[in-house]
Amino acid sequence: MITTATIGYPRIGPKRELKKALESFWKGDIKENELQSTAKDLRKKNWEIQKENGIDLITSNDFSFYDQVLDTICLLGAVPDRYNWQGDDVDLKTYFAMARGSQTKELDVSALEMTKWFDTNYHYLVPELKSDQKFKISSQKPFEEFKEAQSAGYKTKPVLLGPITFLLLSKSTEGKNTLDLLDNLLPVYLEIVKKLNELGAEWIQIDEPIFVKDLDEGVISKIKKTLNSIKEAAGNSKILLTTYFESIDQKVKEEVFASDVDAVHLDLVRGENNFNYIKDSNKTLSLGVINGRNIWKSDLTQIIDQIKDVKGDFIISSSCPLLHTPYDLDLETKVPENIKKWLAFAKQKLQEINILKQNINHGEAKSDLTDNKACIEERKKSSLIHDDNVKARVKTINEDTLNRQSKYEDRAKIQRDIFNLPLYPTTTIGSFPQTKDVRQARAKNRKGELSNEDYDKFLEDKTIEAIKRQEELGIDVIVHGEFERNDMVEYFGENLKGFTFTSSGFVQSYGSRCVKPPIIFGDVSRPEPMTVRWSKFAQKQTSSIVKGMLTGPITILQWSFVRDDQPRQTTAEQIAFAIRDEVADLESNGIRMIQIDEPALREGLPLKRKDWDEYLKWSVNAFRISAAVVKNETQIHTHMCYAEFEDIIDSIAALDADVISIETSRSRMELLKTFEKFKYPNEIGPGVYDIHSPRVPKKDEMVELIKKASKQIDPKRLWVNPDCGLKTRGWPETIDALKEMVSAAKELRG
Ligand code: GLN
Ligand code: ZN
Repeated sequence: MITTATIGYPRIGPKRELKKALESFWKGDIKENELQSTAKDLRKKNWEIQKENGIDLITSNDFSFYDQVLDTICLLGAVPDRYNWQGDDVDLKTYFAMARGSQTKELDVSALEMTKWFDTNYHYLVPELKSDQKFKISSQKPFEEFKEAQSAGYKTKPVLLGPITFLLLSKSTEGKNTLDLLDNLLPVYLEIVKKLNELGAEWIQIDEPIFVKDLDEGVISKIKKTLNSIKEAAGNSKILLTTYFESIDQKVKEEVFASDVDAVHLDLVRGENNFNYIKDSNKTLSLGVINGRNIWKSDLTQIIDQIKDVKGDFIISSSCPLLHTPYDLDLETKVPENIKKWLAFAKQKLQEINILKQNINHGEAKSDLTDNKACIEERKKSSLIHDDNVKARVKTINEDTLNRQSKYEDRAKIQRDIFNLPLYPTTTIGSFPQTKDVRQARAKNRKGELSNEDYDKFLEDKTIEAIKRQEELGIDVIVHGEFERNDMVEYFGENLKGFTFTSSGFVQSYGSRCVKPPIIFGDVSRPEPMTVRWSKFAQKQTSSIVKGMLTGPITILQWSFVRDDQPRQTTAEQIAFAIRDEVADLESNGIRMIQIDEPALREGLPLKRKDWDEYLKWSVNAFRISAAVVKNETQIHTHMCYAEFEDIIDSIAALDADVISIETSRSRMELLKTFEKFKYPNEIGPGVYDIHSPRVPKKDEMVELIKKASKQIDPKRLWVNPDCGLKTRGWPETIDALKEMVSAAKELRG
């Protein structure tokens, strides 16, 4: 028998209903019960859609108000002390305090650290564990959701983030090995699993995506025993152990398959090696054959061929949870029809899974595949995709394309003389608050209710206002504020050839934040300047230096749905040349500092170390293609945030940007430890405060942080800036925070 399954479904809502409810709740516009009822509706609709589209095993507990790792922190009672949690079931107030920080009289605390989930653009909250951490069940969520589904008529497979992944993604407050806590933690998992069994779960899904990483012996030796005890506690419930985002190594495979779990899920889209394990298996296999990370229609004929040797019963599923794909192509109104027919969103992926099942079960019901085949063939040959000039330009890359005129030390001297900035120069990362009026004006302009001229005037006013405010605050290097941009990738994609856009293709990034990744379907080029108009306008308004603001090639690549018919490297190089043209145009239009943001450089790092060098080489080169076109006198900045930079610090240096602004504040400057070993050669602005929280930082905190930084980095090379763009903040807190920041810099100069 062939079964169909999902291992997780998007939860923000087809029309981002959850986002809207959350944000209203945070503002105090709706009460908790209203938020809860929106959530309940969304869960029910999700189950319904999966059933309707032929999925046999649907998931519960894949819903979250913010993040599944945060849910697990609550489930296990691992709330850090600073949240004053009293030890009962974790309430929403504590939950959101961990997610977003809190600045009330009772509770003035910062949020948990946030970091990227594997190599996706989804962010999770990092658990903080003490070396004597106690765990106890402190949330009823998995049980309640299972029961809720049951009473709505759905038998579900509850999912839990597995204990090994949970521990390895946590950080120890004392720098210990978090896996040492496994003996403390496991009994709680066993209790949870037992409870789910008592509630009647036929299947329980344990997610262990960490199993695809390079694990050391210490971890591998714990796998089998851990899985066996979970299986034992689960009684007659079956355990589906899921791994995704890559293949599992041979040694991990041996442990997993020697354990007592009933079924193993393998990612067969990104984990090619996993194909070696599927021919002879002692377990039920869950074959992750439909890509959960991209939006292209699958080649179903090819998949059937790839899995034809699998013996016995198996499960067909998506490669990873569908959290990373948009909801439903049927809601899509913007993508042109000739491209739309090449696509599949979450709902369509359910249908593909079901078509595969029908086809394999009933052998000859081939009719379903002819459409799919025709689509796949048509896309390969389409003239929309290929541009010979672009392909030729990429072949011209040489040393000249990749290198600045002079080395950093020489450029730095020239730049110091001409810019004449004070010690600890202050700047921001680019965007200023995208307030309601900005979003409304953009929406009105889109709908044709606000003329282009009026919209343009509106943006000019906003830009002028932002510049005035920065001048009043005394910020040294000014930005134009990015009011014209909806999103740092979408804005560029809209101005580049080879990209298309969706109206409905939202994917959760963190909490209520969603992104709408562009789709790169063809060869990329830049028909016209994209940002020159705004940078030039801004520079005209002020005698201070205005920094031009661009998104880098790797970030554009990483935050788009990328074509799957050529290597990512080639697509990155094409984008890099487009940005290079923009950099050159900014320079020739009098812009003297240009920031090329690459917040996603780290996130694109392959999950297995053996693949790192190759990736870092082509991605660093892509940045250098974009930047190296300028003269010595033009200062190139870059920016990175929310990731662990330790492992790639030498590649960050190899970008050879004159200045980098980099996030460090949420993790309290942990990055600086790296600089004990690696002397970062160029200028650097370690972020001095966390912009993801409405909390206003105090001057003294920032002075402390910069002093800490000065121990590792020559103060002459230090900049002072927030840790990311300010677009999600309001103006009042932005002004207050920047005031504190500027006085911190001034105090240090003194
Ligand atoms: N320049 C961008 C901004 O300020 C950078 C955003 C980011 O790093 N994600 O919004
Ligand atoms: Zn950032």
